[in-house]
Amino acid sequence: MARERSRLTRRSLLGAGAATGVATLAGVAAAPAAAAATRDADVVIIGAGLAGLTAARDLKKAGKNVVVLEARDRVGGRVLNLQVPGGGVTEGGGEFIGPTQDRMKALADEVGVGTFPTYNTGKNLLRKDGRNTPYATDGLLGAVPPIDVAGLANAAAVQALLNDMAKKVPVGAPWTAAKAQEWDQQTFETWLRHNAVVPSAKFLFDVACASVFSAEPRELSLLFVLFYIAAAGNETNPGTFERLTETANGAQAIRFKGGSQLVPVKLAESLGDSVVLNAPVRRVAKDGATYTVTADGITVRAGRVIVALAPPLAARIDFDPVLPAARDQLAQRLPMGSVGKAIAIYDRPFWRDAGLNGQALSDTGMVRSTFDNSPEDASYGALMGFIEADQMRALNGASEAEVKAAVLKDYATYFGDKAKTPTAFLLQRWDNERFTRGGPVAYAPPGVLTAYGPELRRPVGGIHWAGTETSTYWMGYMDGAVRSGERVAKEVLAVL
Ligand SMILES: Cc1cc2nc3c(=O)[nH]c(=O)nc-3n(C[C@H](O)[C@H](O)[C@H](O)COP(=O)(O)OP(=O)(O)OC[C@H]3O[C@@H](n4cnc5c(N)ncnc54)[C@H](O)[C@@H]3O)c2cc1C
Repeated sequence: MARERSRLTRRSLLGAGAATGVATLAGVAAAPAAAAATRDADVVIIGAGLAGLTAARDLKKAGKNVVVLEARDRVGGRVLNLQVPGGGVTEGGGEFIGPTQDRMKALADEVGVGTFPTYNTGKNLLRKDGRNTPYATDGLLGAVPPIDVAGLANAAAVQALLNDMAKKVPVGAPWTAAKAQEWDQQTFETWLRHNAVVPSAKFLFDVACASVFSAEPRELSLLFVLFYIAAAGNETNPGTFERLTETANGAQAIRFKGGSQLVPVKLAESLGDSVVLNAPVRRVAKDGATYTVTADGITVRAGRVIVALAPPLAARIDFDPVLPAARDQLAQRLPMGSVGKAIAIYDRPFWRDAGLNGQALSDTGMVRSTFDNSPEDASYGALMGFIEADQMRALNGASEAEVKAAVLKDYATYFGDKAKTPTAFLLQRWDNERFTRGGPVAYAPPGVLTAYGPELRRPVGGIHWAGTETSTYWMGYMDGAVRSGERVAKEVLAVL
């Protein structure tokens, strides 16, 4: 039966109702639940997101027998293609990459998925104090939002200070920074109130914070924010705040032809029947040197286990014997951000006619940050908006129709009445997803990194930890997930 469940086709790896529009999947969704299969492996990997799949690739290359157990009926986890009615795909989760995100780019190259630049021609739009102001993105200083001069000066100084402080945070061990205790004892909000003293500057950091973390400044440890900035780079380019927030030269610069989920789909295809779908892991039990990993419909015995999940999701698995207190308490303390993505489809990207690039920033509304998500050939228009943090929480109980109405109202405020009548509307609410429960990343509130940080990657016996949350560079991003998979494979190969 395991073989039946893991019969992989492009369609099945994308998942039912995802980018293929296929409603059910013969051989995957229809697999009988009785008579659990048993398999033996060198390594069992929990989770077929980019982290788990990358680890599987490297372990298989080294000749190891690997089984990847994936809870959903698709691979990719937080990376998900959505079918656009009438043809085309758009992304409901992780979508963009940018400079220094070399590992994700290398993986895409390896599996043959091409890229194209995010649409960035024309002006950005700032919606503030009830007024829309378009502004250029190609000025001497890049995209400078049209706020008052005092606010701009203050924002520039705060950004420079953040970058400077981030340089003092070692990405491999943020808790060892000289000021780790001081920085981990305060929220980003507390620090911003003392430093972003001009209201318009504070607004810019508030909106940037929500768009980067899908969390409010009051929820985040300052040390964690500094680590995240430090991690927005690679071994030769120190991380910077602007690399997190910018489009052209930042983390939003590049998109994937055919949608980002093609990368994990193609990677999983290359792994054949090592990947088992519809197999949520419930229990990991150790008996001597062997781990028995029990999922719905299949049990795998292996000498090593890789948990490639966000920590709060890993905490839902029953470990026997129980995990060390510090590891479990770490997972108890890293919540997921609150995020949804709303994509409205139009006959054409009409905002481009007005010289706009589709990127709006706003101080009001349910969507406060938008992008032009149209396909490369602009054969139709797509406006994508993030619903984040307090706004996502405010809409938790809302129906899809209510969310749609709120989102289109915002799109019309930014881009005019034409935005009110899309030909289709796609909504992905990550907080409601059983096997993700929020996003884009599990973040650290104050006091967590300094007390529990070293547990993030510390193996527990034969159990090893992966997932973007364990990455030293680009934590929270697809690139971090790939890096974590590469790191954990090396870690396991060193002891196997
Ligand atoms: C709305 C949104 C926007 C984003 N935008 C970007 C972006 O533009 N660029 C970028 O680089 N990143 C972005 N990200 C983040 C990026 O998607 C993630 O960092 C990355 O995909 C994480 O990969 P992962 O393998 O670590 O974890 P996941 O993708 O979460 O994979 C974990 C897998 O484990 C499975 N699973 C869970 N529980 C179990 C269980 N008990 N048993 C078996 N399997 C289980 C899940 O189904 C999932 O497939 C975004 C994320 C979201 C949600």
